[in-house]
Amino acid sequence: MRIVLLGAPGAGKGTVAKLLTAHDGSVQISTGDILRGAVKAGSELGKTAKGFMERGELVPDSLIMEIMEVRLREPDCQKGFILDGFPRTIPQAEALTKLLEKIGIKLDLVANLDVSKEVVMDRLTTRRTCANSDCQEIYNVKSKPSKVEGKCDKCGSPIVQRADETEEAIAKRLTTYNEMTSPLIDFYRKTGLLKDVSTLKSEEAVSKIAGFIKK
Ligand code: AMP
Repeated sequence: MRIVLLGAPGAGKGTVAKLLTAHDGSVQISTGDILRGAVKAGSELGKTAKGFMERGELVPDSLIMEIMEVRLREPDCQKGFILDGFPRTIPQAEALTKLLEKIGIKLDLVANLDVSKEVVMDRLTTRRTCANSDCQEIYNVKSKPSKVEGKCDKCGSPIVQRADETEEAIAKRLTTYNEMTSPLIDFYRKTGLLKDVSTLKSEEAVSKIAGFIKK
């Protein structure tokens, strides 16, 4: 399947994307994970992105499109892909449309994970992430703690609170979402590709999405 996951930070895009990949072998492409990997590696991309990310602002569209031009042409994308956290602005969505036309592929669905602001705030302040950039497994101190405190169940690396998950950065990320990303809901609704998925349970979101794809 070729899917875009839309939704505010904390709406569950990462978790739903991971479950969907297990469903049919599509790859998860998270621009946030790619950028965090670059920051950790200290690459030029990482050095440029770091400040924007820590402030809860968006990294410039041109940089994001450079990453995605390369990533979407990689062979593993032929099985399908779940775009998690991309596109995040109208110019990115327009550039994605052109890029997919160039590569000769079409999106199957844009799923809008519709979750209230209160839930999102609660999830983000209690979220923890594996520090290993190749793993980045997501935990939650309330609903999904690791088996051993502070250690990733999957790879044993430390589990940390992301630098952009302080109260201040979270508030900024939500404002950024409302101003820059939520207009994409209308953008994709007009194309007929958008489906709203309003559930707090990730497994339920996945079966709804799989159902939409089958129809
Ligand atoms: P995420 O893990 O998707 O919440 O992304 C974390 C941060 O990475 C965001 O707050 C942005 O600073 C940056 N980022 C991720 N994806 C994008 C994107 N598509 N466009 C611009 N910035 C992005």
